[in-house]
Amino acid sequence: MSEGTAGAGPVSADASAAASDSGAALEPVIGLEIHVQLATATKMFCGCELSFGQPPNTRTCPVCLGLPGSLPVANERAVHFGLMIGLALGSQLAPRSIFHRKNYFYPDLPKGYQISQYDEPLCLGGRLGEVRIHRVHLEEDAAKLIHVGESGRIHGSDTSVVDFNRGGTPLAEIVTEPDLRSPEQASEWLRLLRATLRQLGVSDVNMEEGSLRCDANISLRPAGSEELGVKTELKNMNSFRFIERGIRAEIERQREIIESGDTVVQETLHFDPTTRSAGGGAGAITSLRSKEQAHDYRYFPEPDLLPVAIDEAMRQAAREAMSELPAQRAERYRRELKLSADSAQLLAFRSELGDYFEAAHAAHADPSPPAQALANWISGDLAARLGDGEDPAASRVQAPALAALVGLVAAKRVSVGAGRQVLDKLVAEGGEDPAAIVEAQGLASLGGEDELGAIVAAALAANADAAERVRAGNEKAIGPIVGAVMRETKGRADGTEVTRLVHEQLGI
Ligand code: ADP
Ligand code: MG
Ligand code: ZN
Repeated sequence: MSEGTAGAGPVSADASAAASDSGAALEPVIGLEIHVQLATATKMFCGCELSFGQPPNTRTCPVCLGLPGSLPVANERAVHFGLMIGLALGSQLAPRSIFHRKNYFYPDLPKGYQISQYDEPLCLGGRLGEVRIHRVHLEEDAAKLIHVGESGRIHGSDTSVVDFNRGGTPLAEIVTEPDLRSPEQASEWLRLLRATLRQLGVSDVNMEEGSLRCDANISLRPAGSEELGVKTELKNMNSFRFIERGIRAEIERQREIIESGDTVVQETLHFDPTTRSAGGGAGAITSLRSKEQAHDYRYFPEPDLLPVAIDEAMRQAAREAMSELPAQRAERYRRELKLSADSAQLLAFRSELGDYFEAAHAAHADPSPPAQALANWISGDLAARLGDGEDPAASRVQAPALAALVGLVAAKRVSVGAGRQVLDKLVAEGGEDPAAIVEAQGLASLGGEDELGAIVAAALAANADAAERVRAGNEKAIGPIVGAVMRETKGRADGTEVTRLVHEQLGI
């Protein structure tokens, strides 16, 4: 989509060929191109409203149908959103950018060209996390081609029909530098990008519905090499899982080619997660077109549109529309609340967890839980008890109640195991006062050392073999002893304290 732009440098067939000779480990290199549907009211170059499942061909006009004599006008709000994306990614906002016609013939493209940006895009350069941004530009989406197959046979043939509602929808295309090194890193980074775009409010970033689509460019090279290998491009993946699996499958495919002494051919590929690959793994990769069939789009400047001139008022408006972004939020959690990098990132990237965490942290529970413990309970035990991706704010567990519970556990007034039982109850029934649940269910930690000490002594006596092995230095043998104590105390004992008492009583 960013054909002809300066960027990743020349593609070399030598880098991958050298790898097979030397037998050196191969390093994957990945660059992403992301299409983001912008949440404007109207289309990119006409006044038609964006379509959300309206009846086919009811959101069209002469401009987006490409009728002769109609003239496009650039959507100011799409430009505004493009500038916000550029600011969030630390890009340079070009004072002047222009639209080009990208010519190709396809039934979903009524004009015979797509209006896009070419060598003078809206935003240049930038960085998000560990990945450099190459550029961000604006363009229009194509219409939707629907293959109706058997059911739609006309004159005895399978039929395809076109719904032009989507045609002309505004898109921002974000192109990264080839800075990613693994499928997991690619999908993790894409989550950060998605969280960032959602926070900006420029898109509803719904991958299943296609408002965020990702092409992955993939090559391999000998580890340590600076040169880039021949890349292939996996088109249009619309879920994190498929992206990870697709990239993994393509890395394996290239690895086999290189290790058998062949060279990778530059081509555009499609990953189908529902089929099996030739090697038997899940997900087949098929070729859409090779370099020889590559399109020559005959780009030329769109004569019907003025250049986009960005003035200070537009830059200012974009700056003022920005809110705290996920990366900044993670940084704030690390710096001000001393959360671990992993926790900070998890809460910041999943903003519903972050919002809940902040509400719980602000609840001033007594005893007050350490921020890290609170983060662990929210991203661990609580998230696991709620459904996949469910917003804890919509659950029965009120943020102040969770804060109070974590405070009790942190103060060792309740053991971790008993705390989990209280959480089960909060998830099922709600409630404002975990201390009352602890009281009512008799879940408070065992009072003094004496009470617990006696139970440990009994467990040691009942598990004399295990006790002997622990005394002889086999720490793993402690399992049945701790288990006996937990059964006896119904999970109310603190595990660390039990271990300490076992050691003490065994004199080790
Ligand atoms: P094209 O003209 O084929 O679209 P570009 O140079 O514009 O290629 O790059 C498109 C995307 O491919 C960018 O995200 C870039 O980072 C990535 N890319 C370029 N070369 C490679 C490579 N050798 N391996 C992996 N990714 C690459
Ligand atoms: Mg490309
Ligand atoms: Zn229109």
